Amino acid sequence: MKTKVGIIGAGPAGLFLSKILHSQGIDNVVLESRSRHYVENRLRAGLLEHNTVELLKELGVGKNLINNGIPHHGVMLSFNGERVHIPFEELTGGRNITIYGQRFVVRDLIADLADKNNYPLYFEATAGHIEKIETDRPLIHYEYEGENHEIHCDYVVACDGYHGIGRQTLPGHIFNTHRVEYPFSWLGILAETPPSSEELIYAFHTRGFALLSYRSPEISRLYIQVDNDDHVDNWPDDKLWDELDTRLGTEGWTLNKGPIIQKGITPMRSYMIDHMQYGRLFMAGDAAHIVPPTGGKGLNLAVADVKLLGKAFAAHYHNNDDTLLKGYSTDALKRVWRTQHFSNFMTQQFHKRFQEDSFDYQLQKAQFDYIKKSVAMRTTIAENYVGLKEI
Ligand SMILES: Cc1cc2nc3c(=O)[nH]c(=O)nc-3n(C[C@H](O)[C@H](O)[C@H](O)COP(=O)(O)OP(=O)(O)OC[C@H]3O[C@@H](n4cnc5c(N)ncnc54)[C@H](O)[C@@H]3O)c2cc1C
Repeated sequence: MKTKVGIIGAGPAGLFLSKILHSQGIDNVVLESRSRHYVENRLRAGLLEHNTVELLKELGVGKNLINNGIPHHGVMLSFNGERVHIPFEELTGGRNITIYGQRFVVRDLIADLADKNNYPLYFEATAGHIEKIETDRPLIHYEYEGENHEIHCDYVVACDGYHGIGRQTLPGHIFNTHRVEYPFSWLGILAETPPSSEELIYAFHTRGFALLSYRSPEISRLYIQVDNDDHVDNWPDDKLWDELDTRLGTEGWTLNKGPIIQKGITPMRSYMIDHMQYGRLFMAGDAAHIVPPTGGKGLNLAVADVKLLGKAFAAHYHNNDDTLLKGYSTDALKRVWRTQHFSNFMTQQFHKRFQEDSFDYQLQKAQFDYIKKSVAMRTTIAENYVGLKEI
């Protein structure tokens, strides 16, 4: 098989890139090792930044999002029960976020690419290795329906997530790796109960962090900070609801409770490589960087990468201009570092890390008091939370 751009991975990065390229008339093929059913039902992110929402609409894939997504106009931050509101539109000139599950974004893009347009998107097709990235004709070896195949391309984009083969193909000497493993995890639940707040609540409590979010007007998504070696069996439903109540609570507010339909523990890490291209191989999304979920940035950062790549390939194929392709890593890393900083800030600010009344705890509290007092600080949080328009 021959194509212009060979894309490995049908997560948000690979699917958005494929759609952007097709919209520019640039041939591409997507290989995905998992089944369509699996990727369409994988429960992950749910918060879409303003830019991500705009891009879906621009690409003509925003119909379901417009009908079913839930725009959010602010977020609530809490410190030991004391709350402060961050109104997005007021502080950012009209920008906001939308709650719409990652699996719905993935479904909408697959329906458009595979069902509506019959573009080449192969499920249960596993890329084994990538070759000749230093030449102008790289190729991807992959296995599909029990047989070995090759795709000869002009360029390969590895959108194959944290465990993919793309990063392993980059020569080790061209990048440094940065990694932070946090000493806590998130125990997350999906519960059949209407959300107890119209806006997300990020709460610091001396017993640990808690987050109230939701997936739909009927389904709440809630998290608490737990130790890395904790287990869901240690958290029967009643105990979990009591803990959420304590950590999120404030005077005059009631937490809605209901049947818990899913429970899981997610470790927290910051990870990235500081160079995202080599020869004809480009890296995008989780393949190149992971942020802790505090702030809801992972999916949005993946989309920002491929938006840049889409522009760079359009300049190459339509104008014979390689400036953007050559500068991709430098350009993408500006947003990656900004996002790493914001995700790290939200993580450090709202998780229990120190004993009460220690120096570091008092710094955490002083920072929260400053958020309460300062419009400038609330604006900083708002513009990072909804995502910077340009960087
Ligand atoms: C459990 C969990 C919860 C999360 N929750 C949140 C959240 O609340 N908010 C948030 O913003 N972010 C969250 N994230 C992060 C967010 O989901 C990711 O940042 C996002 O999925 C990145 O998209 P991607 O396309 O780069 O990678 P992925 O979604 O990981 O997609 C990579 C794809 O490549 C495929 N692949 C891998 N290797 C190969 C191969 N050799 N051949 C072919 N295909 C291959 C994989 O099967 C996968 O489908 C969460 C992540 C996880 C794991």
